[in-house]
Amino acid sequence: MELPQDNYDCIVIGAASAGLTAALYLARQAASTLVISKDIGGQALLTDDIENYPGFAQISGFELMNKFQQQAAAYGAEFVYDEVTEVSKLQNGNFSVKTRNQEYVSTALILAFGKTPRNLDVPGEEAFKGRGVSYCAVCDGPLYKKQPIAVVGIGEHVLQAAVYLSGIASKLYVVYKGSRISQDDELYQQLRDKENVEFLINYSVEKIEGEMTVNTVSIKSNAKENPDSRELKVEGLFVEMGYVARTDFVKGLVELTKNNEIITDKLGLTSQEGVFAAGDVTDIPFKQAVISAGQGSSAALSAYNYIQKKLGKTAVRSDWKSVKVEAKPPQ
Ligand SMILES: Cc1cc2nc3c(=O)[nH]c(=O)nc-3n(C[C@H](O)[C@H](O)[C@H](O)COP(=O)(O)OP(=O)(O)OC[C@H]3O[C@@H](n4cnc5c(N)ncnc54)[C@H](O)[C@@H]3O)c2cc1C
Repeated sequence: MELPQDNYDCIVIGAASAGLTAALYLARQAASTLVISKDIGGQALLTDDIENYPGFAQISGFELMNKFQQQAAAYGAEFVYDEVTEVSKLQNGNFSVKTRNQEYVSTALILAFGKTPRNLDVPGEEAFKGRGVSYCAVCDGPLYKKQPIAVVGIGEHVLQAAVYLSGIASKLYVVYKGSRISQDDELYQQLRDKENVEFLINYSVEKIEGEMTVNTVSIKSNAKENPDSRELKVEGLFVEMGYVARTDFVKGLVELTKNNEIITDKLGLTSQEGVFAAGDVTDIPFKQAVISAGQGSSAALSAYNYIQKKLGKTAVRSDWKSVKVEAKPPQ
């Protein structure tokens, strides 16, 4: 691992609605800002159709996040594509952020790393990740055109993915983990009469097998009165088990709820001085792009004021000034 780079004013972990907005606000205050993220866009990349982001009647998640990133970059935010594995407070009060490849240091820290898909935790899942096991129907579905596939999960997530995948696959098994689906559910109604769709209600995946890629998914009924087991011959398995906050690497640094979400106040402050948080990774109950963006801007202004205070300078309350940039942000 290389030695830390120069000290940044602020490091933002995560580059989606929350992190990109935070980066924009910090960069506009001329704070040196580094965004470290596994991707640009986060969960919004999983949908082609956002209809409730103000200012856009309809926009794909990819396009919206691209605009966010361009705007933050235009004001000078820097980006590194990597996974953060460790965060700690140094003796001088600054923060060390270790990724798989580097270590970085900053005065303040914004945690905006959202939520990631929940695993199935069955044999074969790790081995076949990216080789038949996918967590994103919109991203990977088109790879399985006219092929037999399965989707497993519960609730609206799995039904939404199934509607999309049923238009692509030759055969789609919907392995539904719950014991019943409401007959009135609109998504279920769209699926139940499709010839290529077979529902396996109240089943769980037991294991995933294959050679180079997936070819068999073993499932078992959850019902005591139905001891049925089956082997589905499929080329791919989509996992739609909802999303979880993977906050292990900040446990001990900031206080978490019992669901592992980061506890923040209304200004984005966490239990650790100098560490701020925003978006789906926090304990805010509403998980939406516009809410994450709003929280990102609050966390950024709080972080900026924390840095200013350390330097004995004046705090800000808003971001109204006109800032000249070389490349104008996109309209
Ligand atoms: C299918 C689907 C459809 C949706 N539709 C809508 C909609 O129509 N309207 C709406 O408002 N909301 C919608 N949402 C919700 C919205 O996408 C989220 O609320 C929003 O993306 C949350 O943004 P975030 O920045 O908090 O986190 P996330 O989007 O979860 O992004 C987290 C970022 O952190 C990065 N990251 C995670 N861990 C690490 C790590 N250890 N190291 C480095 N980087 C890391 C990720 O790569 C990602 O870039 C939808 C969500 C899904 C899944």
